[in-house]
Amino acid sequence: MSRVSNLYNLQEIDRGIVRAHERISEVEAKLEDDAAVQKGTRVVEQAEANLNDVRTEHSSADHAVQSQRAKIKQNEEALYGGSVTNPKELEDLQMEQESLKRYLVTLEDRLLEAMMELDEAEAAYENADAELDLIKVQSAAENADLVSEKETLEADIERLHNEREAILGNISDEDLERYEKFQERFDGVAIAEVSGGNCSICGVDLSRSKLQKIQSGSELIRCSQCNRILYGG
Ligand SMILES: [Zn+2]
Repeated sequence: MSRVSNLYNLQEIDRGIVRAHERISEVEAKLEDDAAVQKGTRVVEQAEANLNDVRTEHSSADHAVQSQRAKIKQNEEALYGGSVTNPKELEDLQMEQESLKRYLVTLEDRLLEAMMELDEAEAAYENADAELDLIKVQSAAENADLVSEKETLEADIERLHNEREAILGNISDEDLERYEKFQERFDGVAIAEVSGGNCSICGVDLSRSKLQKIQSGSELIRCSQCNRILYGG
């Protein structure tokens, strides 16, 4: 391994570590973002609130029918029980009875409507609840994949750090210092590969004599245009 190839390998390791950290941040953001579950939960909560309203309406419509039937029964007892004998009073009672029965029909219609609404609200709630269960299962499966990816990335980072330690043993303090300074200055790319006789970063043409020096790798040759250290591969 030449001086330059050691530095180039160090750069590859460092870039690998940076990429792994970036991906871990993305994975962690995805794990925290359970938007689908939150949305599904809101739908269930709305369906439940609606179901409760409809139940209250149904119960009051039912109560109104029961109470009207009780009134009719009471009136019937007064009409036919023999306690009232006055013809005028009996006539009034008869009229009242007819009126009570007419209103009962209205109340029974309302109850029927309330029953239908209750059936619909129950079905909507059950659908929303089943949908949420499905979303939760999907989210858990997706999260399991992400958790496993994060573990792999963490293992990669550990391996790369070990490789970094090993390669540092072959790099002089002076070269390492220069590498670190250039990494900072050139946005994480201190070493530029040579490709087809050109610097792969800035594209400048490299002379034959320069290319030969680069190939030997024993000297740190810098690009005349972008100033990076050139690596011939
Ligand atoms: Zn260059």
